[in-house]
This record gives sequence, C-alpha cells and structure tokens, in this order.
Amino acid sequence: MINLFSDTQTRPTAAMREAMARAEVGDEQRGLDPAVTALCHRVAQLLGKEAAVFLPSGAMCNIIATLVHCRPGDEIVADAGAHIVSFEAAGAAALAGAAVRTIQGDRGIFTADDLAAALRPANRYSPRSRMVVIEQTANMAGGTIWPLPVVEGVAALARQHGLAVHMDGARLLNAVVESGIPATDFAAACDSCWIDLSKGLGCPVGAVLAGSADFIAQAWTWKQRLGGAMRQAGILAAAGLYALDHHVARLADDHANARRLSDLLAGATGLRQDDAEVATNMVFFDISALGVRAARFAELLAARGVEIVPVGPSRLRAVTHLDVGAADIEVAAAAIRDLAAELAAGRPQ
Ligand SMILES: *Cc1c(COP(=O)(O)O)cnc(C)c1O
Repeated sequence: MINLFSDTQTRPTAAMREAMARAEVGDEQRGLDPAVTALCHRVAQLLGKEAAVFLPSGAMCNIIATLVHCRPGDEIVADAGAHIVSFEAAGAAALAGAAVRTIQGDRGIFTADDLAAALRPANRYSPRSRMVVIEQTANMAGGTIWPLPVVEGVAALARQHGLAVHMDGARLLNAVVESGIPATDFAAACDSCWIDLSKGLGCPVGAVLAGSADFIAQAWTWKQRLGGAMRQAGILAAAGLYALDHHVARLADDHANARRLSDLLAGATGLRQDDAEVATNMVFFDISALGVRAARFAELLAARGVEIVPVGPSRLRAVTHLDVGAADIEVAAAAIRDLAAELAAGRPQ
C-alpha cells in the first residue's frame, strides 16, 4: 500500500526507535525527564521563545493556547478552513467557552484588512475579539504558506486591538524548509506557536508548544488539568530530538514528491487540481467531472494499492511524507490517472 492519506501515517524508522530506546528518562511532570527538558529547550530556541512545553498532540497545543488566551465569551478569529474550526470537536467552545469567527481567506490565508473587517467593536453587545489563529501551513487550503509579511501584518493589527496571536504550526517546518525563512521569524510575530512531531517529522506521538515563560507556566496548569502531564515521556521526546536532527531538511524531498505527483496528474481525465502550483507536501484535486463521490474514488483507489483521503464530496487530498519514495509517486500517479480514465470512460469498476 502506498499511503498518501496523511503525513501522520509514518512509522518510526529503525534509527528513531534506537534513539527512543536509548532515551534518558525521568518523571516528566516533576521536570525530571532529561529528554523532555532537552526537547522543550530545543524547540523554544528553534522558535525564539522563552519556554516550551511537551504535549501529547497538536490538538492539545491548540486547546491549551485557547484556554490560556481566552475567557468564556471571547471570540477567536480563524480562517474558515482552519483545523481548529473543523477538526478539534469544537474544543474552543466546549472547554474554553470561546466562539470562533471565521474569515474566508485566500487559500487559507487572510490579510490584516480581512482581520480588520472581522474584529468586533468594543462595546457591551459584542463578543470580545481575543485571539487570532494563523495556521502555518494552511492544511485544508492546500498546505499553503503564509508569507512572512502577511503574518507580520495580521499580528501587528491583532496586537493593536488587544488580541493574542496564536500560530498553529503543525507544519511550520514545511513552510520554513520551503521558504528558507527561519522559524524564529514566523514565530516572532506570535504570542504562542507550536510544532507537531507526528506529521512530517515522522515521530509516533507529540507536539511542542512555545511562548513566554509566563504563558508556558499557565499552559502547564492546563496540561496538568487536562491530563496531559506525563511520566517517563523522554522515550517520546527522544523521537522528537532525533527528528529535529534528521528529518527537517528532508521535508524538501516531500515537497519535490508532491510537485512531481501534481505534474504527473496534470491534464489527467476528469481531475481538476486546486492549484497550479503545489505549495508544500499536499496535492488536492476535484473529481466532480467523473460522476462518483470522492469517498468512492478513494475506496476504488485503495483497492489498487494507493490510499488518499476524501476531504469533501468531490475533493481529495494526497500528502507526501517520509514513508513515500519517489518511485511510489510514479506508481500512485499512474493508479490515480488510470482509475480516473476508466471512470470517465464509464467502464465498470
Ligand atoms: C494535524 C493538525 C493539528 C492537530 O495535531 P494532532 O497532533 O494531530 O493533534 C492541528 N492543526 C493542523 C493544521 C493540523 O494539520
């Protein structure tokens, strides 16, 4: 099976497993796990922040940042396609009592002007606009990269109006590798920022949330409260440290593979790609012309040994990662093209 379902599908490599087995561990929630401490220090430095906290998932990074920044009745501003809007079980509403106001960005990216239009007037009728979310890269919008000046513009306006700036950096390092802009530059505009270890970096578990020392102290209270405080978690942190050493620069290979896939699919019968140019490690395409639903297309394709994910009635996403090689891309593209051609020709499956 060639698994293009998501970059979350990677298995830890033999070398990563060795690093995990060798990890020096201790009681993480007492601050006594050397590998976790080293990982937090490393990510704080990478993002240019005072401190960081190791968490079980990216979703927990988002909800904890929301809990620290917002009070019940506050409003969060995010792109309509953002992960926090659709894939976190309305945690902001359920746990933080925060509402979400969405902006229809351009490929997941909105500007300071868009934010200005979404901000609430400060009066007793309106929710208090309190936090803006920048999703780098914008997952459902194509893995697109927020340009640094746009991040800075949105952040500057947010600050002027008393909003916290939170970066959902699940794939920030994809943006860094692709753009050549250091992570510190993107993160500098933000009050809180996190990276996922279990996406392109290829770790089995974990994410790291960074911010000021005060922010992280508050985040720790929530980590404890939500049951995210761990014990000998160094075994997981060691995977993160290994990934930061060995799996960052290679994200460029994923981007090249995604571009190659996109090139191979260009002009395929019945497929319409979202964007002429692939931004990072994702390829999205629409199959409305084929007269089958995306879920059915994915099922038929899986039977031919290629897994991709339906993300709408007629839209699908393919994601490249560590466990997909250049040769797999050729095979996957041929399978997708063949299936589309057969469906277009009305041949029974
Ligand atoms: C995957 C993802 C998350 C959630 O991260 P998990 O580690 O899977 O909990 C949040 N935001 C974005 C943009 C993501 O792609």
